Amino acid sequence: MNYRVNENGYYGDFGGAYIPEMLYPNIEQLKNEYLNIIAQPDFKAEYEDLLKNYVGRPSPLYLAKRLSEKYGAKIYLKREDLNHTGAHKINNTVGQIILAEKLGKKRIIAETGAGQHGVATATVCALKGLECVIYMGEVDIERQAPNVARMKMMGATVIPATSGSKTLKDATNEAMRDWINNPVDTHYIIGSVVGPHPYPEMVSLFQSIISEETKKQLIEQTGNDQPDYVLACVGGGSNAMGMFYHFLDDENVRLIAAEAAGLGVNSGHSAATSVLGKEGVLHGSRTLLMQTDDGQVVEPYSISAGLDYPGIGPQHAHLHKVKRVEYVNITDNEAMQASLLLSKLEGIIPAIESAHALAQLEKMTFKPDEVVVICLSGRGDKDLDTFMKYFKL
Ligand SMILES: *Cc1c(COP(=O)(O)O)cnc(C)c1O
Repeated sequence: MNYRVNENGYYGDFGGAYIPEMLYPNIEQLKNEYLNIIAQPDFKAEYEDLLKNYVGRPSPLYLAKRLSEKYGAKIYLKREDLNHTGAHKINNTVGQIILAEKLGKKRIIAETGAGQHGVATATVCALKGLECVIYMGEVDIERQAPNVARMKMMGATVIPATSGSKTLKDATNEAMRDWINNPVDTHYIIGSVVGPHPYPEMVSLFQSIISEETKKQLIEQTGNDQPDYVLACVGGGSNAMGMFYHFLDDENVRLIAAEAAGLGVNSGHSAATSVLGKEGVLHGSRTLLMQTDDGQVVEPYSISAGLDYPGIGPQHAHLHKVKRVEYVNITDNEAMQASLLLSKLEGIIPAIESAHALAQLEKMTFKPDEVVVICLSGRGDKDLDTFMKYFKL
């Protein structure tokens, strides 16, 4: 079975570049040049140097002993929460900022929902001294004030999107419009494995460092680079694609992706795309998305802002369809309980997003020697307000 992108930018039935004609030149330039640029020795040297000395990689692979005891398996956490800025998103923005520089771009734009991708983008723009413009829904700007402050502190301009529901989808539209008007000097950094080809492929390549390191660390720690299970949470799907990347062809490794069920899959307040989604076009690619019968995008809901997305990346849609990855769904409450459990058992407060993957452990049974790897995509500092309200701390 082929799980990779083909020469036309498709993963099976999904992917492609469904974009307005005015964006063709930008996307063509990126598509024609990115593979060549990232294969150059000077690109690789700088990417590796920044990952090591700025981001703090390799991130540890940690055998969580008390968690392992509780579930009766050997459970390893891939500690993306220890990266600079507290999540995996920086792996992608570091890659794309070096690429933008090599493409001769002077100005960076991005869209952000909860602000995590906006912060990761503002960070690398400050690092490189490049102009940074972040589009963010007016409603999200109000809900995520600390992240807006972080972006501003690092020199970014945050522009509110005031149309529609004033959230992520509207911010994305504004960013697209900006890129159409500034095709020569501007690079658009997309934050997950979504958007028109080549973005899903490019972002998964930059995130694939997660599974590349994990394989080496598994050899060191267990003598075998093939665990029994690999788990990750899915919003757009970038930490999961990075975590799965080098395991896709190891057919005996079971891959599990946890989506946010919100208040319940059938509650009308959910982001469980693999169950509720239908095939369609979202953000420039053919994929699975939550939509009404007449094709309107349904507003997603999850307690974790990072999983609150109405679709999944096209490669995930393909992996779901061909059943290489099992997609499961986890409610707000299950994820919150898993956050508390990890905090108490291991002294690690996870992002609520990552806790969706942890919560799946409750629903599985293991043989004692089985090896499980979970991507701990981010740390929970940003979620403290939510924890305080939920647990009345
Ligand atoms: C943004 C985010 C996610 C969801 O994005 P993916 O592209 O699906 O990885 C998950 N975890 C954390 C900590 C995030 O910040």
